[in-house]
Amino acid sequence: MNLDISVVIPLLNEAESLPELSAWIDRVLTQHQLSYEIVYVDDGSTDNSWEVIQQLSAQNSAIKAIKFRKNYGKSAGLSVGFAAATGNVVFTMDADLQDSPDELPEMYRMVIEDDYDLVSGWKQKRFDSFIKNNTSKIYNFVTRKMSGINLNGFNCGLKAYKNTVVKNIEVYGEMHRYLPVIANNAGFSKIGQKVVKHQARKHGESKFGSARFIRGPLDLLSIMFVGRFGKRPMHLFGLWGGILFVLGFFSAIMIGVSKLYYLNILNQSAPLVTESPYFYIALTCMMMGTQLFLAGFLAELVARNNPRRNSYGIETDIGLEEDNHFKEKYT
Ligand code: UDP
Ligand code: MG
Repeated sequence: MNLDISVVIPLLNEAESLPELSAWIDRVLTQHQLSYEIVYVDDGSTDNSWEVIQQLSAQNSAIKAIKFRKNYGKSAGLSVGFAAATGNVVFTMDADLQDSPDELPEMYRMVIEDDYDLVSGWKQKRFDSFIKNNTSKIYNFVTRKMSGINLNGFNCGLKAYKNTVVKNIEVYGEMHRYLPVIANNAGFSKIGQKVVKHQARKHGESKFGSARFIRGPLDLLSIMFVGRFGKRPMHLFGLWGGILFVLGFFSAIMIGVSKLYYLNILNQSAPLVTESPYFYIALTCMMMGTQLFLAGFLAELVARNNPRRNSYGIETDIGLEEDNHFKEKYT
């Protein structure tokens, strides 16, 4: 029988929270008669989180777990958890009890009945630090504008996905902040949100320092770039390289023409080429244009060498036999 729900929970040093979290999830889902598994991913904890998980899973066979040898980050944890998850709806949650398991049944219903690809929690009233709350608002605004996805908050740890979504997206680096954007880029565009309860951290402290404020926007740029031009980088670099080069080229012609004008028409000695502003425009534009072209060609070579260059999100097909192996190559 298919499992209804997988709850993927990446964690780093959260031993105190795990027993309460496991019991709470079990209570809520059992009450709603939903079959489930919890997939803990221990991201290199140095406290006794793993011992606690071992004890918990000895008492409850629905608790499964993966342990990293060292700390790789939340995205890595999610990525491995996604690969292992077997439930029809796959949840992600933080381990620190900031997200409430009470939200699971309604989000499950939204995925199954309302047919959402992804339902994101929205911490409308949130309990994080002042600085974090306010930078988050700016980031969410920018992400909304850049991606065109209408979510109030992108980085809530509590989200629900259709199983096919998590099997068809890739998350690495610190890109867990933009999973809705990644899913949308992969063609999973029915994205909803649900207001969720949020609590202050009960035990321990936040595992992300202020580096997140710089890494976040960089990751967003990468995702937008890869989403749009990952399979055709020359279209970006070639366009801007071309524009700059042409600008530089005509500036160079301007210099030549004005030199001839002084010498032949006005019959006087011409000012030095280096005194003309066009000289500097020509120099800069032609150099930058060439560089962009070069970057474009290199990016094309890299993209060409990617074994997944021909992988597309194939939703379904008609009439093709099971033993037709085209999908292995193209998905
Ligand atoms: N986490 C992780 N690996 C890391 C950092 C964090 O697995 O390198 C987990 C952490 O244990 C928690 C979740 O990711 O379950 C969210 O982290 P945290 O609560 O510290 O982030 P915040 O709520 O401050 O954004
Ligand atoms: Mg937290």
